[in-house]
Parts: sequence; structure tokens; C-alpha cells
Amino acid sequence: MKYIDEFRDGDTARLLAGLIHKEVSPDRNYRLMEFCGGHTHAIFRFGIVDLMPENVRFVHGPGCPVCVLPAGRIEAAIRLAESSDIILCTYADLMRVPAGKKDSLHKARARGADIRMIYSATDALAIAQANPERQVVFFAIGFETTTPPTAAVIRIAAAMALTNFTVFCNHVLTPPAMAHILASGEASIDGILGPSHVSTIIGSQAYADCCAQYRMPLVIAGFEPVDVIQSTLLLIRQINEGIHRVENQYTRAVSASGNRKAKALMDEIFELRPRFEWRGLGELPDSALAIRHTYAAFDAEKRFHMAPVTTTDIKGCICPAVLRGVSNPDECKLFGTVCTPEEPKGACMVSSEGACAAYYSYGRFR
Ligand code: SF4
Repeated sequence: MKYIDEFRDGDTARLLAGLIHKEVSPDRNYRLMEFCGGHTHAIFRFGIVDLMPENVRFVHGPGCPVCVLPAGRIEAAIRLAESSDIILCTYADLMRVPAGKKDSLHKARARGADIRMIYSATDALAIAQANPERQVVFFAIGFETTTPPTAAVIRIAAAMALTNFTVFCNHVLTPPAMAHILASGEASIDGILGPSHVSTIIGSQAYADCCAQYRMPLVIAGFEPVDVIQSTLLLIRQINEGIHRVENQYTRAVSASGNRKAKALMDEIFELRPRFEWRGLGELPDSALAIRHTYAAFDAEKRFHMAPVTTTDIKGCICPAVLRGVSNPDECKLFGTVCTPEEPKGACMVSSEGACAAYYSYGRFR
């Protein structure tokens, strides 16, 4: 299949890995953060770690939308679903994420709340159209990749003058989170494998300021093995040359300016939230989106006067440190014993983009 087969070619992958072995300096370590959880899974699924020299290490980042959502936002959604006669719609991954007092959306549904699993934002809109006598709330999460579809359904709902559809908006932004990680210096990284899907929307130039300010090499990488290995080679070359620029390996999908239509749509519907709490990163300014006043009728937080909820993660779960790139999942005492994909204790074990799920699925035990 075009754009897949050539990027899974074993000979090309081995050739690129050979160049990495040749070009790394034996006198230093290369700590490369893959920002996106999709890359974490690709790295383990395709055995890329095993192709790397000892001194090239991948550090996992916060790019898993389910993982970075703090438990308080899930608890707030549970309270709403249990206190009002609403239909709450959300994606499957989020249903199983533990939220305060060992709760989850899944358990709330078992207790009788009308919580429905959907595959897309338009599914939520269709449920609202099919149930005009009920209020339908779409629990929207994700980075810039999933934000345009949420914006689109709000605009459609407004055009249809729907009065029973609202969105609990939890969309977050990549560049501020990246800047926070680099500013803290906690993960001590030498280069970044930039997210691919997010970059199709925001474009490669969205990272320019961040990379310049923190003198950080960044290569936007596709998800296939050749993409990741070639991007790693490009990063190593930048590090060796002492330069720091944004490079785009994923040119078949990402442009410098991104998707202008999608960005305009996002800008029409959303505005920056002054502050938003991330799991692991804490409260970050201008790092998330809220629904603009013009579309306030579709904002669940306003319609239902949702109050902020603070809750804590399960004791022993080190998801926050994993998301900051400071710890690896197998450093968690609960990993693979108390915490498994069947009985997850933290978001990073639930999500298909979570680092703990990647370690567990591909056998990265110590
Ligand atoms: Fe949290 Fe489970 Fe990962 Fe430990 S293994 S950090 S408990 S999700």
C-alpha cells in the first residue's frame, strides 16, 4: 500500500539504523523525547529500541490526550451525568480511566448513568438529533488533531439551532506543553521527535519559537518505522552539529503552515483558557481551549454550571512523572502486577497511546 509499504521496508530501516550507529558519538548520550504517545507505541511495536545504539534513549512525553486529562475533569463529568437527566457521550479510552475514589465513567454507567461510547464528534451530534427531549453532552478531549471535528459539530449544532447539545471542552494545545517541559529541564532531553497528526493541523512552524528559545532540535516524524528511524537520524545529526531547528520528516502530510481551514474553524469556535490543569504538568497558562462566548449556548460548563473538581490519582501511580519524561513505566511499583490493561490504576495504562500500555503490550519489563 502506497505510503505504508515503503515506510515499513526492513532494508531501508536497517540502512538508516546503521547510519545512526556510525554517526553517534560514543562520548555522549542522546536523550530523545517522543512527544506523542503514538510514537511511543510505534517505537516498541516495531522494535526500534533494539536497533538503536546503547547511548540513544527514547524518553516518553505527555502526548497522550487521555493521559494528560486530570482525574478532576472526569470526576466533574461523572457528577454531571449522575445529577442530571443527560446523555453523556465520550470516546472509549476515557471510559476506563480511574477518577477519584476509584471511580470511572464505566462504573458510573454501571450505576445507571446514561453514558455512551462514541467513535466521533458527529456521533454525539446524531444522538442529540435522535433524542430531542434529552440534553446531550459531548465530553470532548484531545490535542489539536481532534479539536477541528469538535469545532465543526458546534458550528453545525448552531446552524441547526439545536438546544439539546453541548460540549464539555477539554481540548489542549501542544506547543505550550512542550515549552513547559523544556523550561523545566526536568527530563534533560537533547532533541524531540515532533508529533505528526497534531502537526498536520498546526504546521511545522508552530514549534519554531519554542525550539529557538530552548535551543532544542525537533524533527516532525511519521508513524511508520522508517519514519521514526530516519527522524532519529536527523535529530542525531542536528545534535552532533550543535544546531537546533525544526525539521519536517513527515512531508507527505505536514506543511509549514498546517491546515489553514481547520485552524480558522478552531479560531472561530474556541478561545484560549487562561489556565488549565494537566495531569503531570500542573496548571499551565494558555494551554487549553474554551468555547467562545458567541457559542456559549453549546458550552456544557456554562449550561450546567459545572464546578471545578479536584481529586487525586491512585496512590503509587507515577503517571505524572511518566508524562513529564522523568520516569519510565517499569519504574512504577504497580506496573504489570497491580496495574494491567485489564485492571488499570492510571490513565497511562488505559489509553492506546499511553506509555504504560506500550510497555505492557510489547513486553518492556525490566
Ligand atoms: Fe500508573 Fe499503572 Fe502506569 Fe503505574 S503502571 S504509572 S499505576 S498507569
